Amino acid sequence: RPDSQISVSLLPFGRRQQVLLARDTSHVTRLEQMRRDFVANVSHELRTPLTVIHGYLELLDPEDAPALAPVLGEMRAQSRRMGQIVEDLLTLSRLETQHHVEDERVPMAPLLATLRKEAEALSQGRHQVTVEADTDLDLLGSPKDLHSALSNLVSNAVRYTPAGGSIAIRWRRSAEGATYSVSDTGYGIPASHLSRLTERFYRVSSSRSRGTGGTGLGLSIVKHVLNLHQARLGIESEPGRGSTFSCHFAPERLLSATRSRDES
Ligand code: ADP
Repeated sequence: RPDSQISVSLLPFGRRQQVLLARDTSHVTRLEQMRRDFVANVSHELRTPLTVIHGYLELLDPEDAPALAPVLGEMRAQSRRMGQIVEDLLTLSRLETQHHVEDERVPMAPLLATLRKEAEALSQGRHQVTVEADTDLDLLGSPKDLHSALSNLVSNAVRYTPAGGSIAIRWRRSAEGATYSVSDTGYGIPASHLSRLTERFYRVSSSRSRGTGGTGLGLSIVKHVLNLHQARLGIESEPGRGSTFSCHFAPERLLSATRSRDES
């Protein structure tokens, strides 16, 4: 067929021979497209009714019926959570269909300051938050998407680190470019889970994750944003000791803070 996608592989066969295997994979691509469209459509359709429900819940005054105040509080929290899941699903749908980003300079000094403030606001004094930068390089890419990815790692570090722990946000030059990393002294992740963490809704412990208010889509979004910026996610973790999530950016994505893209 004209729209066929053929995947070709060469497999060893016996000692001296090889087999050429050609497969039509267009049905897989079509099914994947249907899945993406379905998720995007459902999320889009859920957005409006959820906004209406949330709006009405906000209008209700708990003082009118004090006995119902805890129920109202829980309903508001859950409708907010559903709204966040829908927004994250829509973000993922957009990232999955996007092939490149509109490049802009993303100044790192103010971004690191914002990330520190976000960590402190979420932690509410329960953790020690530090920021270290040994380079003044800026990033090149989508400011909104990069902020959301880097901020996701910070909020995970806060959410999966018990009170009294520390969070270190780092921006460093490396042999292959520059690395942004977030280290925590939190619960850590058993090695057997590491390769699946960026799957949608994959969680090491469902009860702990739901309790901390995440949507289960954060690391999926991080991975897609990094892919769009040709960057790589590294995860190191030791249960009971903590984790480090690193984003490795190649030189093509880096700009000297004082010079423009053309000059650097
Ligand atoms: P969630 O909303 O559940 O946090 P994420 O996609 O951000 O979803 O993360 C997926 C899972 O990875 C989490 O549920 C948690 O089990 C684990 N995880 C992510 N970040 C950390 C971290 N810093 N420390 C320990 N576990 C983490």
